[in-house]
Amino acid sequence: MAEFTMELNDEQKEVRDWLHGFAADVIRPAAAEWDEREETPWPVIQEAAKVGIYSLDFYAQQYFDPTGLGIPMAMEELFWGDAGIALSIVGTGLAAVGVLANGTDEQIGTWIPQMYGDANDVKVAAFCSSEPDAGSDVASMRTRAVYDEAKDEWVLNGTKTWATNGGIANVHVVVAVVDPELGSKGHASFIVPPNTPGLSQGQKFKKHGIRASHTAEVVLDDVRVPGSCLLGGKEKLDERLARARERARSGGERVKNAAMATFEASRPAVGAMAVGTARAAYEEALEYARTRVQFGRPIIDNQGVAFQLADMRTSIDAARLLVWRASWMAVNGKPFTAAEGSMSKLFASETAKKVTAQAVQILGGNGFTREYPVERMHRDAAIYTIFEGTSEIQRLVIARTLAGMPIR
Ligand SMILES: Cc1cc2nc3c(=O)[nH]c(=O)nc-3n(C[C@H](O)[C@H](O)[C@H](O)COP(=O)(O)OP(=O)(O)OC[C@H]3O[C@@H](n4cnc5c(N)ncnc54)[C@H](O)[C@@H]3O)c2cc1C
Repeated sequence: MAEFTMELNDEQKEVRDWLHGFAADVIRPAAAEWDEREETPWPVIQEAAKVGIYSLDFYAQQYFDPTGLGIPMAMEELFWGDAGIALSIVGTGLAAVGVLANGTDEQIGTWIPQMYGDANDVKVAAFCSSEPDAGSDVASMRTRAVYDEAKDEWVLNGTKTWATNGGIANVHVVVAVVDPELGSKGHASFIVPPNTPGLSQGQKFKKHGIRASHTAEVVLDDVRVPGSCLLGGKEKLDERLARARERARSGGERVKNAAMATFEASRPAVGAMAVGTARAAYEEALEYARTRVQFGRPIIDNQGVAFQLADMRTSIDAARLLVWRASWMAVNGKPFTAAEGSMSKLFASETAKKVTAQAVQILGGNGFTREYPVERMHRDAAIYTIFEGTSEIQRLVIARTLAGMPIR
């Protein structure tokens, strides 16, 4: 097990500086344009692919970094550049991790390369879990997967919503109900290969923030996928369902706790994205406060402004520490006895919302215009308290964990 450290090693510092350079030179200058266009920034993704940032190798290297700091450090830098573009770059990674975590070696080898494509022909992937009536309440998911034994095919029907890259993805990973009696333990994940008949994009959402990231409904109408597209395979699914049925009969608590552990491990990454956006807005505000002169002195000379900046910086550093701790715990298999993953996501996302609002305030009228990036950062920050579990759900998870209650 790696010791917890707050110091990046030399190799990590090198990667961080490289990512920061890409964020500053390629992502940030493109941010306003793609925010206005509200389209996937394909040329930027292509640039990221050329230098090796948009690739499974890079993502896996950070994911398996034993210190746990690889992913948070990478997310912070990319999202410092711009949240919408960064989500377009890392969105595929979120789907790929679903395959890495649950897929067989053959599935990993077949599908992950097709999720990324190559630098000359980049592709993206989507992870489709949320539904119109199943957001926070994942267990009420309705999309159904039924096995057609005669053809060794699964038939998927339902509507997914809010899917990042939904409909434009080369490969969709779809979560569906295989046993409605088991709640979220009766779910399984499926690969929907490129150009599969029956999968179509529904509404594309016009959003408040992260507008360079494509978000849409995905409609599944008698989508047939080969048996080999069930992640992990049929045998493993049957064993898992049998275990879940047995556990449900004997109380069910362990089943729910196992599901919680998975979410706890992925939440710090979203916290790190929020830290990136918050830091970007704070830096803009600090620079502005130093240079903007009113009443004959820089506005930072007013305690009312300087104290805001002090609070902003303190919250950002505190958020980063919570994120790094949770990420280190996840990578080193430490149990989340106080829902530390949820804590990190809750605190970092609320910090991003607050800090970006303070940054707008410090820039005054300029902060309210699209001439200055804090306006966009403020809109972007609103997503962090919503996706991957809202702040209310994080509080619910933390409170129930502290109370020793099962997570519903
Ligand atoms: C831009 C964007 C990208 C996304 N990307 C993806 C993606 O790639 N894949 C995917 O599957 N999903 C994705 N999502 C979906 C996201 O995870 C959900 O929006 C989120 O889980 C909340 O679900 P909901 O929107 O249905 O809100 P609801 O669950 O309807 O919640 C509405 C409000 O009620 C509150 N609430 C609900 N239940 C409780 C409770 N028990 N106690 C207290 N308060 C409660 C919530 O906190 C929230 O404030 C994305 C969403 C957005 C906006």
